[in-house]
Formats: sequence, C-alpha cells, structure tokens
Amino acid sequence: MNQYHPTVTQFVIESSVAESIAQSMNLPSVLHLLPHLVNSAQSLARPPISNYHVGAVGLGSDGRIFVGVNLEFPGLPLHHSVHAEQFLLTNLAVHRCPRLLSVAVSAAPCGHCRQFFQELRHSSSLQILVTDDDESAPDFKPLSKFLPHPFGPHDLLDQETPLLLEQHDNGLDLLPQNDEYINDNSNNLSNGDENCGNPINGNCEKYEKYETVLREAALEAANNSHAPYSGCPSGVALMDCEGKVYKGSYVESAAFNPSFGPVQAALVAYVASGGGGYERIVAAALVEEETPKVRQEDTARLLLKAISPKCVFQVFYCGKCV
Ligand SMILES: [Zn+2]
Repeated sequence: MNQYHPTVTQFVIESSVAESIAQSMNLPSVLHLLPHLVNSAQSLARPPISNYHVGAVGLGSDGRIFVGVNLEFPGLPLHHSVHAEQFLLTNLAVHRCPRLLSVAVSAAPCGHCRQFFQELRHSSSLQILVTDDDESAPDFKPLSKFLPHPFGPHDLLDQETPLLLEQHDNGLDLLPQNDEYINDNSNNLSNGDENCGNPINGNCEKYEKYETVLREAALEAANNSHAPYSGCPSGVALMDCEGKVYKGSYVESAAFNPSFGPVQAALVAYVASGGGGYERIVAAALVEEETPKVRQEDTARLLLKAISPKCVFQVFYCGKCV
C-alpha cells in the first residue's frame, strides 16, 4: 500500500478534489483513497475521556468523501458520546448525500455502529475496511460480514417507509405559541460570553430575530427526523457567536438503542463546518411534540448545559399539519 497519507482538514471533500488526490497518488480509484485518509481524520476527533481517536472516511454515491470522528463530553454519562460512524452518517445527512457506498475506519465498528449502519436501505452491501486489521492488505468487506444475522428496519417497517439518508417530511408545524408552553431561558441573555461576541448578548430586539431563525431551523430539522419506530420526530438548531446556525435531526434505529439525539446531530453539523469550542454555541432551539412518548427536552438541556453553560435554550412544540 502507498504509505503517503494526505492531510484531512475538512469533513467533506468534493468529488473533483478526491479524484485529483487519488490520481496524484496513482491509485486506481477514489475508493482506494479512503484508507489513506483515515490516519489524518483521526486527528480531528474530540475524545477527552478515552483519548481514543476514531476516524471513519466514507464515499458517498455522489462521489464526495465524508469524514466522521468520535466526540466525547466530560461531565456527562457516556451514552451522550458520538461514535465516528454516527458522525459520518450524520455528516452525509447534513450535506444531503443520499447513499453511503463504502467506509474505511480506524478500528472495527462496535456493535452499536454496526446496528446504526443497519438503518440504511442498502446496508447489506455497504463496504467496510478496517485499517488496523492485522492483515497485510486489509480489504473492503460488506456490512453483512460484520453483522451476519441483522435485526433492522425490515423487521418493523414496510418497504415504503423512508430510511436513514432518504428524504423525510414528517408534516410537522409549530403549534401556536403560548408563553407558558415555551421553556424560556432568555433571561440568560445578558449572561452570554462577551469574550466570544455573542450576537444576541443582552439585545432583546436582536434576540427576537434570532429566535425566529432558530425556531424555523429546528422545525426543518424535526421534519427531516428519522423516527419511524416511536413516531416522535424532533430537531435542534444551534447558533454560534457569529450567528451561524447548525441543524440536527433526531435519528432512531430499529434497536432503539443506539439512537442519535438531535443535539448530538446538530453538534456534528457544528464540528463538521469547522466550529471551534462548544462554548461558542450561544443559543439553541428544540422542536418536538408537547407530550411525546420519547422526549428530548431534558436530555438536550443536560447536554447543552455541560458543553456551553450559558447557552440560551428554548423548546417549541409542534404537531402534525392537518
Ligand atoms: Zn461505534
């Protein structure tokens, strides 16, 4: 194997760039480039608890290359962690790539991630290469080799139900706002981190504008949410101190656990776009039903408080359009 490892600095590599890198390395195709990017991808991981860096590099059906890394959050239970493979799939969803063809990953996918991959329409043919395999020339093998007797969407859903990465429209709209329904931390506004130039710091008029943007972005994320098993879709939008917005949609698996929370999904969008420290996140909105069987609000609040204690957090309730 060619031992040259190009440096990965971004979480998405355009197809033309991927092709020219592969050509410059005399590789037969972009597929062969994937394992060469894994080492560098690992350096983008944020695992302050385990210090175990995982990198997953995937080829999308549109020719783009996507990177996934693991994220860990000190002070919280471990189930809040993001695995590299979950990051990778969320990264494809954020960039509207409809299908993942192949993945090169630094260590064998855990059972949790094998199950998460099972949520894809063409899961059995997904090709996976593990770069730390003992073999002298590790090769791609189908997910069915890693998960030979799967339980998945085919056990619970009909064929027409959209799966992960497929287009979703959950038909949700915001319910009329009632102040007592809104979980409002806006009295935190004046507590924003002045050092990072909070765009809404102490300015109520400005805040109203940002609130609308965040609420609409969170609704859009909820409408893209993959929650066919509970019927409780949800979405989150985060805003950083420059006013940039990052959306995250809740994703379920047929096994329930692993599922992927909407704050984690939005954090993937934040990290994948080059976002810095989490304390730069200054406002967040969650959209979910008022009394869902699966509620995100408390977990979302917990996670946000741990990573960005001064973040303003609001919850907006939605219902099915009639
Ligand atoms: Zn995993």
